Amino acid sequence: MSPPLTTTPLIVAKFGGTSLANPQRVRDMAARLVASHAQGARVVAVVSAMGSSTDELLKLAKSVNENPPARELDRLLATGEQISMAVMAMAVEALGVNALSLSGRQAGILTTGAFNKARIADIHADRLMKALDKGRIVIVAGFQGITTDGDITTLGRGGSDTTAVAIAAAIKADVCEIYSDVEGVYTADPRVVPHACKLDTISYDEMLELAAAGSGVLQMRSVEVARNFGVVIHCRSAFSDKPGTLVKETSTMEQAIVSGIAYDNSEAKITIRAVPDRVGIAAEVFGRVAEANVNVDMIVQNISEHGTTDISFTTPISELRRLKPVLAATVGRLGAREYIIDETISKVSLVGAGMKSNPGIAARVFRVLADSGVNINMISTSAIRISVVIEGDKTEQVLQSLHTAFGLDSDELFEETQLSGDELAAKRAKGR
Ligand code: ASP
Ligand code: MG
Repeated sequence: MSPPLTTTPLIVAKFGGTSLANPQRVRDMAARLVASHAQGARVVAVVSAMGSSTDELLKLAKSVNENPPARELDRLLATGEQISMAVMAMAVEALGVNALSLSGRQAGILTTGAFNKARIADIHADRLMKALDKGRIVIVAGFQGITTDGDITTLGRGGSDTTAVAIAAAIKADVCEIYSDVEGVYTADPRVVPHACKLDTISYDEMLELAAAGSGVLQMRSVEVARNFGVVIHCRSAFSDKPGTLVKETSTMEQAIVSGIAYDNSEAKITIRAVPDRVGIAAEVFGRVAEANVNVDMIVQNISEHGTTDISFTTPISELRRLKPVLAATVGRLGAREYIIDETISKVSLVGAGMKSNPGIAARVFRVLADSGVNINMISTSAIRISVVIEGDKTEQVLQSLHTAFGLDSDELFEETQLSGDELAAKRAKGR
């Protein structure tokens, strides 16, 4: 008989800003790493900037330049994670384990040259692996990498998730643990729907749709990378030992009709009124919008009356400043009547892999909204998602009604025990 195969588990653990908000929390997270290490695992940590320091660095940049040069902004923002990595390495060493902190460059993370939204092109993990082999805990600064020209880049807000998953893929880790202030992926934001349930597992495709629909648990790109490389993600709380949610390929037998409901109130609805209805108008409008590098989500064009039509679309509120001059010029050139911007809308999305094999889900959604007296502005669907645009102040009510109607309510009430009053207020303000 051959001896049993022994393998040392290889773990990547990523810590978000809240989990590192103060020295005590850094020490607590260091203790987690050391505990895994003591159990025999090889451990890589990926750290975000402490607390809200990325926001503060952004503010600092804007205070000296309304429009900071992208290269310099990345140079500045990358320092947040570099502080975290060094502080974390010190905290680990204080617990008696050798640690090594590595910036994006030192960890061999090569990216494209698109400052502020670079993509990881390759990871040369030799140095990291060597340190692991020597028994060290390796701490990598999240959110950043380096171009072939040697410039520092960042991966976009929330990019540390992507760093962690990409490293997990590169070193073939057994799991990529993402620690944050939530216990996992919920059927809905438990701060809005207190009867939301934590999911044990969710598929990559569903998680991608939820992330795109506004669920902030994971950066969308990290889920893409995880799906492409088969990395199992474990989303879990930094403040408890309870198991969280596994994001992984799930068997087709267990597909729920609705796995989760997300909302997004960061978009605005634009309507261009009375556009002449002729060939090429949509190409003209959206061609100009694309030239301005503005992202568009949903699009609706109404039936024309008297030779003109209304075109509506949604776009992030943060893009409006760039969009307005384009709209003004387009209205003038096409001889449309006007454009209207509505920033009060909210998009609610239901996601579930089981939708594919269950017709009539959209009709059920519309029935629930009708029964709650809520008007639907726009609708869009994918194979596993239904999204509706509604008036923003109805969001909470709609989420609760849909959650109940699709049988997602748990008997237990969600309790926010981990966050202080200040943090809660900040979270809510951010979510609005
Ligand atoms: N610190 C960066 C941010 O706040 C990256 C991250 O936390 O993932 O967006
Ligand atoms: Mg984050």
